[in-house]
Amino acid sequence: MASYTSKAFSRVERVCRHLPVVLNTVLVFSITGEVSYLVLVEAPRLEEADLEPTGWLSWWKAFHLLAQYFMLGNICWNASLFVNTSPTIKGVFLGGEGMIEGWRYCYTCESHTPPRCSHCYDCKVCVLRRDHHCVFFSRCVGFRNYRYFLCCLLFMWAGLLYAVVMNAEVFLVILKEGLTPHSLLLLLVPWIMLVSPRAFAFAFIADTCVVGLLLVSAFLFFHVLLLLRGQTTREWYSARRPYSQGLLGNLRHGLGSRWFLCWLSPLVPSPLPGDGIHFQVTGSLEPAVAGR
Ligand SMILES: [Zn+2]
Ligand SMILES: [Zn+2]
Repeated sequence: MASYTSKAFSRVERVCRHLPVVLNTVLVFSITGEVSYLVLVEAPRLEEADLEPTGWLSWWKAFHLLAQYFMLGNICWNASLFVNTSPTIKGVFLGGEGMIEGWRYCYTCESHTPPRCSHCYDCKVCVLRRDHHCVFFSRCVGFRNYRYFLCCLLFMWAGLLYAVVMNAEVFLVILKEGLTPHSLLLLLVPWIMLVSPRAFAFAFIADTCVVGLLLVSAFLFFHVLLLLRGQTTREWYSARRPYSQGLLGNLRHGLGSRWFLCWLSPLVPSPLPGDGIHFQVTGSLEPAVAGR
């Protein structure tokens, strides 16, 4: 009985772990589908109403579709590389000859671990230059997959910003009646209003884009700040910045030698300068007393 319960519990835990990935994927594809619909179906209708010449429309459509699928491709590709690039100590020769200040012993992994490495209790392993455990992908952000995490976040932000601009018309139509309780409710909680399924779908996606944009903007801003400061989330929390290499050095250590190009596509090779084990100490290893 006990083993049956624990099996059922671990199955539920596995499903819950994958739920955010599934939800995220559904949202990303729904938003792309909705914006493609706006470009392919709604825009020609507007043009017909205006009775303007149609020559520019195919270029306009091609440009928008290209931009959308460029962003979607980058989100999916970076997300896939992020999940499939292991940031852990598994299969890494850590050595031991250079065990200086900052090395620790992990009793769970039964291994000496280098500075900036820490154990993740979700991944059940130590992670090199661990930043944080990403619940959306059920994967740790660490030394080798940091670039893919950041680029995925950047394209999610760009995609949401683009979707909000494209959906602006939905908000304008709702706001045409002015700021009444009905229009406010329709903006904030379209699913409780008795609207047609089509209007509901548009309002729901437009709302989700705005909320998503606000959240992703905060997250992206925080991580770009950490990248420029050469800090991990853990170091930021403990008010330490001992491995900063200056602005350009931090960009190189975070995104690789082609940091200025690598965000365009995961295809651009951008080797990281370090090994994730040895880091040059440039500041105090102790937490700062005041300020960061
Ligand atoms: Zn460990
Ligand atoms: Zn983890």
